[in-house]
This record gives sequence, C-alpha cells and structure tokens, in this order.
Amino acid sequence: MEISLKNQVAIITGASSGIGAGISKSLAESGATVVINYPFEVSKIAADAVLKTITDAGGKGITYMCDVSKEDQVVKMFQDVVAQFGTVDILINNAGIQKDAKFTEMTLDQWNAVIGVNLTGQFLCAREAIKEFLRRGIDETKSVAKGKIIHISSVHEIIPWAQHANYAASKGAIRMLMQTLAQEYAGEKIRVNSICPGAIQTPINTAAWDTPEVLNSLLSLIPYNRIGQPKDIGNLAVFLSSDASDYINGASIFIDGGMTTFESFSTGG
Ligand code: NAD
Repeated sequence: MEISLKNQVAIITGASSGIGAGISKSLAESGATVVINYPFEVSKIAADAVLKTITDAGGKGITYMCDVSKEDQVVKMFQDVVAQFGTVDILINNAGIQKDAKFTEMTLDQWNAVIGVNLTGQFLCAREAIKEFLRRGIDETKSVAKGKIIHISSVHEIIPWAQHANYAASKGAIRMLMQTLAQEYAGEKIRVNSICPGAIQTPINTAAWDTPEVLNSLLSLIPYNRIGQPKDIGNLAVFLSSDASDYINGASIFIDGGMTTFESFSTGG
C-alpha cells in the first residue's frame, strides 16, 4: 500500500516536541506540507529544529506560533495558513498539557488550564478546520474527502486516572466531541477520528520513564513490553490522514502495546 499526502496541507498543533513533532515528520515524509504549531516564543527554537529536520530531508513546512486555547489566535492561524497555502486539508489536534493534583487540592486554575488547551483548543481548531473544508469542497486530485481531523486523545479517554481528573475529563470529552463531529459532517465527506496513545516516550511523561525503576513499573502495564515512540503515532496519523483509511470515521484507535487489555488480569485476575 503506497500512501501519498502530496499537495495536502496539514496543521499539527503542539508540534515542537514529542508526538506532534513525530507526526509532523511522518506527514512530511508522506508529502504533506506541514504547519508546525507551537504555543509560545520559548518553544520557537524547538519548532525550528523540527522544521529543519523536515526540510533537510526534502520535506516542506513552516512553523507557526499560536496558543490553541485562544480563539482569536486560532482563527488567525487558519486565516494565515489559507492565505499562504490556499487551504488546509488535515488537522492534527495534538496540543495537550497536564496539571496533576489530588482532586481535593486541584485548583480551578489547574482545571481550566487543562480543559482550555486539551478540550477547548481541540474545539476551536476543529471548528476552523471544518469551516475551511466546507468552503473548499472536494478536490479529488488530492483526496476523496473534503478534509480529515485527527484528535490526539489518550488511553485515558476510557481508563480513569487518579490525581489527573482534569486530564482524564478532557480526554473523555474528546471522545464525544470527535464522534459528534464525525456524525454531523460524515455527509459532507469530512472524516473525524481519534488516536488514543498509551505510554509514548515524550517530555509530557518523563517522570514515567527516565529511571530504570519507573520504566520497569511502567512496562508492567504494557503487555507488549516496550514504551511507544512518536513514530508509532506518526505512522497511524499518516494512515488516518490518507484515503487508505477512507471508510474509518468516528473511531477511537488505541495504540498502546496492549495497555487497554489490562495487563493486571493476564494471570486470570
Ligand atoms: P509534549 O509535552 O511533548 O507535547 C505537548 C505539546 O503541546 C508541546 O509541544 C507544547 O508546547 C504544546 N502546547 C501546550 N500548550 C499549548 C497551547 N496552548 N497551544 C499550542 N500548543 C500547546 O507531550 P506529548 O506526549 O507529545 O503530548 C502530545 C499529545 O499526546 C497530548 O495531547 C497528550 O495528552 C497526548 N498523549 C500523550 C501520551 C504520552 O504517553 N506521551 C499518551 C496519551 C496521550
């Protein structure tokens, strides 16, 4: 199966590190022009480094600063990308944060910050993307769909997570956001799906893999016995962005080395 995303423009939010950077590289390798979004000035150097890796390998893209939790910035990002490249074909709703606390100690600021980026950010970007897909219509030289949205959710859209109520709530809500959009816009030939990663080796969860002790404890939750890499997610994002997955719509795809088979029951419970 040969996959080409040639002439398609993809916005990847939160792409200066981790999974977003990995997806950007994979999409660019498949021919997409990538918009590597990052939130603040402090992430610019990292975003530029991701872009350099891509352009050094012959890929195309730009970096773009935008805080996805801010409506005016998201609207402007889509306007600017359409002005520069003509349209947007693929949205990877990836930006996400954690602000962990015991529930009784969780502040409203911690709650709002996580919901603001992880959920409201995905709402704002999806809304602008769908408006653009509808405006442009189908261009079959590129894809049989008007557009594709991939939400980066988590195994925590179904696994409850003590001391992470804000994060788990944001990911659970993404499932309904994704399925509702998939249902509402399927007739318009817009596909909306979620990728639900298990443990992927990125900066968001350094504390879970940066010593042999914590890594061993993490591996006890993963039947396949390895931590995931951004490339694992990038491969799936390419497939879901392409017409090879044209009949997949409204799906949450778990990519977790079997974590959601619940390893602790492997000896009979
Ligand atoms: P990461 O910390 O490397 O990536 C998160 C990115 O989001 C960063 O680049 C950060 O700059 C960006 N970001 C933060 N606030 C933003 C904002 N307001 N606007 C735009 N960008 C913003 O961690 P990651 O693991 O690559 O996380 C990416 C996504 O994957 C997140 O949604 C996370 O919840 C999800 N996820 C990660 C794992 C894992 O094990 N690493 C597992 C499940 C889900």
